[in-house]
Amino acid sequence: MTHLESTSLDLLKLHGLRKTPCRLAVLELFFRERAALSHQNIEQQTQNSNFDRVTIYRTLTTFEEKGILHRVPDLEGQAKYALCSEKCSEHAHHDAHVHFKCQTCEKVLCMEDIPLPETAAPKGYQVKTASFLLEGLCAECNG
Ligand SMILES: [Zn+2]
Ligand SMILES: [Zn+2]
Ligand SMILES: [Zn+2]
Repeated sequence: MTHLESTSLDLLKLHGLRKTPCRLAVLELFFRERAALSHQNIEQQTQNSNFDRVTIYRTLTTFEEKGILHRVPDLEGQAKYALCSEKCSEHAHHDAHVHFKCQTCEKVLCMEDIPLPETAAPKGYQVKTASFLLEGLCAECNG
């Protein structure tokens, strides 16, 4: 068993999820890429396994519900997901951090150490989610 495989299995177990080929493949992909991925990215990169769209979609929904993946702000109308920290659990996400999009390699990364800036909505408004996206060059492309 590879390291990625056993890390993925452990995470499924931790969240009380049965292992399925799709769940394992999707987690392994996130651990390997270490960046946010869209449904389309996942479909392309698991092509050999032939998972259908619905299976991938359900896997992402389950992972989001269980506190394994969180949604990342997208400016292109395509939802992206990224791995959560250990602090997240079912129905309790703690992903209020800034995200960074590299304009060269187009990777979207979690900046877990940078909390979202404090903001206040006008009277009568209720904020449910917030997102903050920095754009520029990632450390690798800037190097
Ligand atoms: Zn989370
Ligand atoms: Zn880059
Ligand atoms: Zn994130």
